[in-house]
Amino acid sequence: MHRLVCIHCKKVYSPESVIYTCPACGHLLAVEYDLDAISLSRSDLLARPLSVWRYRELLPVTIPPVTLQEGGTPLYHLKRIGESLGLPNLYAKHEGMNPTGSFKDRGMTLGVSMALQLNMKMVACASTGNTSASLAAYAARAGIPAVVLLPAGKVALGKVAQALMHGARVISVAGNFDRTLEMVHDLCISHGIYLLNSVNPYRLEGQKTIGYEVIDQLGDVPDRLVLPVGNAGNISAVHKGLTEWQSLGWIDSLPMMTGIQAEGSAPVVRAIKGDLPEVVPDVNPETVATAIRIGAPVNAEKALRAIRQTGGLAESVTDEEILSMQRSLAQMEGIGVEPASAASVAGIKKLVEMGAIDPDERIVCVVTGHLLKDPETVIKQCSPPTEIDATLPALLSALQL
Ligand SMILES: *Cc1c(COP(=O)(O)O)cnc(C)c1O
Ligand SMILES: [Zn+2]
Repeated sequence: MHRLVCIHCKKVYSPESVIYTCPACGHLLAVEYDLDAISLSRSDLLARPLSVWRYRELLPVTIPPVTLQEGGTPLYHLKRIGESLGLPNLYAKHEGMNPTGSFKDRGMTLGVSMALQLNMKMVACASTGNTSASLAAYAARAGIPAVVLLPAGKVALGKVAQALMHGARVISVAGNFDRTLEMVHDLCISHGIYLLNSVNPYRLEGQKTIGYEVIDQLGDVPDRLVLPVGNAGNISAVHKGLTEWQSLGWIDSLPMMTGIQAEGSAPVVRAIKGDLPEVVPDVNPETVATAIRIGAPVNAEKALRAIRQTGGLAESVTDEEILSMQRSLAQMEGIGVEPASAASVAGIKKLVEMGAIDPDERIVCVVTGHLLKDPETVIKQCSPPTEIDATLPALLSALQL
């Protein structure tokens, strides 16, 4: 049995309570388990298929889960990019290979399962895109209605297409992501709808399995785990999960948690570099990487702790660096990701060029979403197909053969 614990004042709440922040102090909640009661060993786990649900004893769901077979994503060695950077041990965990094309599915299999376990009849979220695509699909799988709020004009085409096709009520708000999150939060509290943004502690429980899978696939704890940071839920989730494995004695060190943000939306980076006690939000965040276009990350408190406690780093990259790494991943490695995802690898490139990391480190970059999520940004970067008449000579001439 789990309980909810405030990350700030440590007050404990029952697992039946539908709350997202601590009623006593207003800070976020985290799920805690009685780890002493877990009688499982690491080798028991390794006998199961690689997926979110391999780790079910460290998850709060007790009913049959709402699942589309999430997790079990590939870990690729980045041989060519690694060589070009002088990093022989550089890897990418491709979370774009999840059912709806982003790591958000790990959170939604948990979140929507918990919605049913808690007898909630309707789910909602605000989203930069992927959360809404994922929620729409998992709500459809569960047979319950979903409402999603999107910042108008700032969501990649593939993500809107998914949310619409999976049958969510899609609302476009004339405001930025941070404002849509406030609105959906108010709506959920006043109307008894289950909120599935990353303020929801259960979503993060699913996302923590990224770290577990990385260790199971690599056979060891990497020296550094690198994630793009938006709302800062994912980096916090992975760190929390690994802390649990450390408490269980399953691993004896933690990777240096490293967060990468876009230059136009980098409050976590500024807080780490400036040694600030908390983040100062960006009022008008801007970046081509819309999935991390978030000025006031709700999980910043957890993320700052994760980075600081593990001796990690935070760095920002320009849109140009992000798009250039998106092309390198696609063309040098065959790995298609959306812009936000390329930020993690672009960040490592920058850090290694700054001399901030040891080239012998074993580094795993989480690439968070699939190339097809944002076809418009891709098309803008590529020259269009060559058009020819339907003759062989025209083909040979076009190919200059
Ligand atoms: C949600 C998302 C992120 C940011 O994750 P946070 O948990 O908000 O920090 C990064 N990349 C992609 C593709 C995403 O969908
Ligand atoms: Zn509290």
